[in-house]
Amino acid sequence: MRILKDAVYGFAVGDALGVPFEFQRRESFKCTDMVGDGTWNQVEGTWSDDTSMLLATCDSLKEHNAAIHLYDMMGKFEQWYTKSKYTAHNVRFDIGNTTAAALEQYLLGTAPVNCGLTDIFSNGNGSLMRILPLAFIPCNEDDIREVSSITHAHCLSKEACVIYVNIAKQLIQGESIQSILSNGSWKEPFERMGKLVQLSELDIKSSGYVIDTLEAALWSACTTDNYKDCVLKAVNLGEDTDTVAAIAGGIAGIMYGFEQIPSVWVDKLANKTLIDDCLF
Ligand SMILES: [Mg+2]
Repeated sequence: MRILKDAVYGFAVGDALGVPFEFQRRESFKCTDMVGDGTWNQVEGTWSDDTSMLLATCDSLKEHNAAIHLYDMMGKFEQWYTKSKYTAHNVRFDIGNTTAAALEQYLLGTAPVNCGLTDIFSNGNGSLMRILPLAFIPCNEDDIREVSSITHAHCLSKEACVIYVNIAKQLIQGESIQSILSNGSWKEPFERMGKLVQLSELDIKSSGYVIDTLEAALWSACTTDNYKDCVLKAVNLGEDTDTVAAIAGGIAGIMYGFEQIPSVWVDKLANKTLIDDCLF
């Protein structure tokens, strides 16, 4: 049985692998190891907003005995946004537009449930990137949608979160990613989930659009057979490298376990004290 630690370390390592290559086009680089510098000029092992928001979510759930508390969760995102809490080196160096807009709404006094943007263009991967801890608590699909909606309230973002958490829950029970994808009943616009394993890299986009990110991450997971290959394949898709690799790495952590994450990468990972403090 997998635990939150498997998922969070898998996620953070994927994030850190992708950070130096964010926004770079496919085949304009080759990631083979955890390195520094690059897009954000960070030292190796530095993880980004994805892991920060994931940890803030974990911390909120931990404080409330695995119960969802939207005000507290949003308050912790605000501490990250305004005070750089939950960061690798006490600096916040990245944030998505929709997440920033939702947090500005919250700072104006809007209730969290009304902060998320609802338009079709607000479907970046910003809620998908923080939703994985919900696979480790008792919750239903409406709970997952509500947690998405405090930043991303359009139905596509909410359904992507539901799909990702449901897949993670099945992986925790020991099912294979291939059987989960092939046995699922997928409705448009998620109809490609059932045939991801047959798609080639040319068919996979890795942009920050939530469906592209979900497909790219799951494709990386279902076409590899170990943690390392999965996350490197995800990074090498290019574009939103850190988020795609983080989301792929989160489920690969569940699939293969913490022990299968290369220890040299875990050793390099920044601020493991904070990561461990947020685990439950
Ligand atoms: Mg990021």
